[in-house]
Amino acid sequence: MKAGVLTAPQRIEIQDVDKPKIGGRDVLVRLKYCGICTLEQRMYSGRMKFRYPVIPGHEASGVVEEIGEEVKILRDDLKPGTTVALDLVSRCGECYYCRTGASNLCLNRFKDGKSILGGFGEYRAVSSKQVFPVSEELPLAEAAFAEPVACCIRSLKKIELSLAEDLLIVGAGPMGMMHLMVGQCMGARIFVSDPDKERLRAASEAGAYLTIDPAREDLPALLRAHTEGRGVDACVVTSPAATALQSAFAGTAAGGRINIYTSYNEKVPLPTDANTIHKAEILVTGSEGRTEEDFLQAVRLLVLGKVEARSLISQRVPFSGLEAGIKAAMTAKTYRVLLDHEAE
Ligand SMILES: [Zn+2]
Ligand SMILES: [Zn+2]
Repeated sequence: MKAGVLTAPQRIEIQDVDKPKIGGRDVLVRLKYCGICTLEQRMYSGRMKFRYPVIPGHEASGVVEEIGEEVKILRDDLKPGTTVALDLVSRCGECYYCRTGASNLCLNRFKDGKSILGGFGEYRAVSSKQVFPVSEELPLAEAAFAEPVACCIRSLKKIELSLAEDLLIVGAGPMGMMHLMVGQCMGARIFVSDPDKERLRAASEAGAYLTIDPAREDLPALLRAHTEGRGVDACVVTSPAATALQSAFAGTAAGGRINIYTSYNEKVPLPTDANTIHKAEILVTGSEGRTEEDFLQAVRLLVLGKVEARSLISQRVPFSGLEAGIKAAMTAKTYRVLLDHEAE
């Protein structure tokens, strides 16, 4: 089968590799789309080191090709031809975190670094637990968004966003936009901050209550003006810029919650002090990945049309355009670039 293989930093080769074989509890999926996320950009640039060669890609959708014998007994929702979204984290199901409902922190999820990826190949064999059917009406390009949407669900659960609260999303890139969509499903009034005019316009079209350019406008004052002087109840930081963290702490009300959703390449200190956190009862947390429950809910939001991912598809590239696609994904001009496995 064809696969985009990262053989060294900044070297992606389209190779002919062995088609995976399945065991009794597995499903073979012919992939149709895979998003190029920050993880793949970091792997490509070399900022994130991996054992090479590796087939990147973790936001995949496709069509069931073959089903293991045991799966046939357990799952009548899967048949050859079923369209599916794939949760490409293989969770052990047996460690402390898996057994206490936090499988996103599974102690064994990175044991085999390659098992979490593989979306840039034509086929992927996975445990049936990782396979989530989507309705035939949902285009597979949009089903590939189940993974990042699931991470936003995890993120907003982590700060216990509740009905009619005020939420600030710092950063209006693809993850900021998906937080905006999920946050609206959860009934929040949403403020979005970003220095990019185009991105603010898109956020406002997607339903943001107010968009703010923190470089030109007084973000804390604007937020206070709309919240009886308090600031927002909850905040998600989706941009790794140091100024994004400053906006979060400056804009969040006493008693508010902040989730650091983004990951960082460097060590970035918090722009506050322990006494401020103490006095204002600010809850600061992070969120990592998603659980199976978050994934299932993401699939439902997409299938029910409550999250509309179509507007975030900036480009679809064939295998031959994969490297150019990764480079395009690294610019602020795109939201998601998708590998289209069947395009010429
Ligand atoms: Zn992702
Ligand atoms: Zn585990």
